Amino acid sequence: MHFRRPEEECGIFGIFNHPEASNLTYLGLYALQHRGQESCGIVSSDGQGLHSHKSMGLVADVFGNQEIFKNLPGRAAIGHVRYSTTGASVLKNIQPILVDYSRGSIAVAHNGNIVNAQIIKDELEAWGSIFQTTMDTEIIVHLLATSKTSSLVERITDALNRIKGAYCLLFLTETRMVAVRDPHGFRPLCLGKQGDAYVVASESCALDLIEAQFIREIEPGEIVVIDKNGVTSHFPFKKAEPTPCIFEFVYFSRPDSYIFGRNVYQVRKELGRQLAREHRIDADIVIPVPDSGVPSALGYAEESGIRFELGLIRNHYVGRTFIEPQQSIRHFGVKIKLNPVREVLEGKRVIVIDDSIVRGTTSRKIVKMVRNAGAKEVHVLISSPPTSYPCYYGIDTPNRKELISSSHTIEEINRYITADSLGYLSREGLLHSVGTENSSYCRACFSGEYPVKFPMLGPEPQLDLFEKE
Ligand code: AMP
Repeated sequence: MHFRRPEEECGIFGIFNHPEASNLTYLGLYALQHRGQESCGIVSSDGQGLHSHKSMGLVADVFGNQEIFKNLPGRAAIGHVRYSTTGASVLKNIQPILVDYSRGSIAVAHNGNIVNAQIIKDELEAWGSIFQTTMDTEIIVHLLATSKTSSLVERITDALNRIKGAYCLLFLTETRMVAVRDPHGFRPLCLGKQGDAYVVASESCALDLIEAQFIREIEPGEIVVIDKNGVTSHFPFKKAEPTPCIFEFVYFSRPDSYIFGRNVYQVRKELGRQLAREHRIDADIVIPVPDSGVPSALGYAEESGIRFELGLIRNHYVGRTFIEPQQSIRHFGVKIKLNPVREVLEGKRVIVIDDSIVRGTTSRKIVKMVRNAGAKEVHVLISSPPTSYPCYYGIDTPNRKELISSSHTIEEINRYITADSLGYLSREGLLHSVGTENSSYCRACFSGEYPVKFPMLGPEPQLDLFEKE
């Protein structure tokens, strides 16, 4: 049996009972753009049928033309932004998925990753199902369509009882919107209200943009049904230990969002403070790698008393470095995105703070850049522990071979990135900073302890850091 690498980093948004549902979904997706930049889509309901528009590209490019909204009528809509690393088959994989089946039409948008997808897909295909996409999400639709139960909630429950992994889902039918968060609550999902309309979004920053009021987070294992009668909540799944993804705090969510009971900015600042407690360095200035390192660098500066400066300026019109799928372009990408300020760096002992090192490419480029701009010393501090294990629950980390810290010591990585010193936040420090009183977070990317089991990968070859030199 082969196991596909996870390939989803996504954001979802939905609104029910608003005269401009698809327009507001467009805005919601705009606020969630950081969760996926490859493609996006909206499905709306006018009470009689569902209407869809989706395409490759950024939200503003796909939905920039007002004419599109004429074809997305109705008082309810769901939308999706998707990041993926799949190659040729991307077009047909854009979400939300929209299907007609024996009971009408249904659309679904998914954030997360299903770990037993291949097994279920093989089974369904053996029974004659024909898949149109290579997305895990389509499996849910097939299971739902073949369920023998009668109500929509029962069918969704029936389907999801077969599924293992991470999922936040939004379903839309002609008359209902349904939001689901998996029993472990890996990914964030919140509920809001805008006038008479209910809103569901991956992150609260999307509610802010459309001036919706934050009501609460959707609970792990909760199904929320929104229809003309209002909101009803169901907990049909077997209870599981909540394991929200700690990497959402480290990197993925926007700092202005409130997720897992906390504001992301405050958590990141605390990561920086903790980093300062763990790594005292004699330096003149502390600078962030923008934007991901900014709150932690502020926290570090506050705690250590070392001056905060902006030594690297970011071009804001360039997306996240990971968008470029090829190593050669990614190397180039760092330069496109960041430029040093010589006047800030010249002659200084500099601490550079970033949130994580994945392949090491970014840090290596940045150290060179800061040194070339005249820095006397360059110390790199990372506001999370070494990322040594791939994520199977919806964060797009590369396989183990490409994760530099899976096969190299901190000294080796330091040698590779050519810094004067390199330090990571400890695992205990990370947990202490996020606070574990409400949850036991999923931190598999740092520890290799996966809360939901999945088919194991075979041994992978190791990354040879200096192979090209
Ligand atoms: P690398 O150059 O491969 O070491 O990538 C490190 C950079 O990627 C850091 O600046 C992080 O902010 C960023 N990063 C970390 N995790 C991810 C992810 N899953 N997707 C996109 N970017 C990431």
